[in-house]
Amino acid sequence: MSNRLDQAEGKLGNDLVEKGHGIHTSLLDFYGRPIWDTPTAPLDELISTILSQNTNDRNRDRAFLALRAKYPSWEEVRDAPEKDVIDAIRPAGLASKKGPRIQLILHQITVERGELNLDFLREMSADEAREWLLRFKGVGPKTAAIVMQFSLDTPAFPVDTHIYRVTGRLGLRPAKMGREEAHVWLSTVFDPQDYGPAHLNLIRLGREICHPRNPSCIICPVNQHCDYFADIGDFNTENVDIVTL
Ligand code: SF4
Repeated sequence: MSNRLDQAEGKLGNDLVEKGHGIHTSLLDFYGRPIWDTPTAPLDELISTILSQNTNDRNRDRAFLALRAKYPSWEEVRDAPEKDVIDAIRPAGLASKKGPRIQLILHQITVERGELNLDFLREMSADEAREWLLRFKGVGPKTAAIVMQFSLDTPAFPVDTHIYRVTGRLGLRPAKMGREEAHVWLSTVFDPQDYGPAHLNLIRLGREICHPRNPSCIICPVNQHCDYFADIGDFNTENVDIVTL
C-alpha cells in the first residue's frame, strides 16, 4: 500500500492539492464543518459498516439496532444460529451474505485475539490497521477506512459511491481510476486533518446537488473548481436540475 501511496504522491502536483484544498474550503463555507458526533467502538463500527454495504443509512441502522436488541453482546451474535442472525439483519438487505460474513469475522477475531475487542488497532500505524482489517472477507478499502477514520481516529479517506462520482467530475482524480486506487489517491489530495469533514461534505454534495444524473451545477458551491462544469462551457440550463435547498 505504501508503494502505491508513494506512486500517487509522485504523480500529484501542487495544483491538485491546492484544488482539493479549495474545494474543501468552499464546502466548509457552504455546509459548515460537519460533526461526527457518534463515535462508536471499532468493532461496532466494523459491523455497522458491513451492514451499510449496498443499502442506505436508515436500513443499516434498523438492522444494527435489531441485531443488538436480539443479541446484546457480540459473543452472542457470534454463537447464534446463522438463520437467526440473518433474520435480524434483513432490513439491511443481502442478509444471507452479510450474516455469515459477520459471524465468520467474529469467530476469526476471537481465535486471533482471544476476545471481541478491536481497541488494540488504535496502537497500530494507519498502514498496519488497514492491512489488518482488509484480511477479512467482506472488508474492503471503504469499510476499513470508515472504521479507521470515524472510530479509531486514525487518518483514512473512505471513498463511497458519491465521493467516487463527485471527485471524478471535479477532476480530483484520473477519470478512469478504480475505486480502490481512488482511496490511495484522494488520501494524498486532502490533508489528513481534513479527511473527516471533506469526506462528509463531499457525500452531502453528492446526495443533494451532484446527483448521478443531471447534477445541479448551477447552484453547486464548487462549480468554479469543477472540470465537468468547465467542459459544459456555455451550458444549457435545460441540462441541469435547479433545486431549492
Ligand atoms: S459543478 Fe456539477 S458536476 Fe461539478 S461537482 Fe458541482 S454539481 Fe457536480
